[in-house]
Amino acid sequence: MINRTFTMIKPDATEKGSTGGILQMINAAGFKIVAMKMTHLSKEKAGEFYAVHSERPFYGELVEFMSRGPITAAILEKDNAVEDFRKLIGATNPANAEEGTIRRKYAASIGENAVHGSDSDENAAIEGSFFFSALEKF
Ligand code: ATP
Ligand code: MG
Repeated sequence: MINRTFTMIKPDATEKGSTGGILQMINAAGFKIVAMKMTHLSKEKAGEFYAVHSERPFYGELVEFMSRGPITAAILEKDNAVEDFRKLIGATNPANAEEGTIRRKYAASIGENAVHGSDSDENAAIEGSFFFSALEKF
């Protein structure tokens, strides 16, 4: 079934100039970009986005990191989008990410891991609407 997922190219990847390379891998894997923007999250907005992790020990570090520079947010369409995109990005810790995955190629550490990918259809819809209005989704 054709459906959608949400991604962010995180500040570490933006800083390293990896945005183009990551978008190329996303396109090559068959995902269609149906919304995209570059933006800079405030600490407040980064904290809101990752609120599900607010009790975790790394939450403060995560909020600092995600608000330290610009990100690229996008909505991606493909059959089996959520699951297939999680496969394309690889494990949270790049040390465990398989060859051919985005995190294997572009991520430096478990904290600074280059990309975000939604973990369910429900969260993909919530996260997409966090960044994009109906007029910005194609
Ligand atoms: P994301 O939600 O960004 O796609 P994920 O689903 O692979 O990543 P989560 O468990 O949802 O992983 O963690 C969210 C983010 O929090 C991670 O991508 C990473 O940036 C950060 N994070 C997770 N675990 C740790 C940790 N042990 N130490 C530091 N940062 C962490
Ligand atoms: Mg996650």
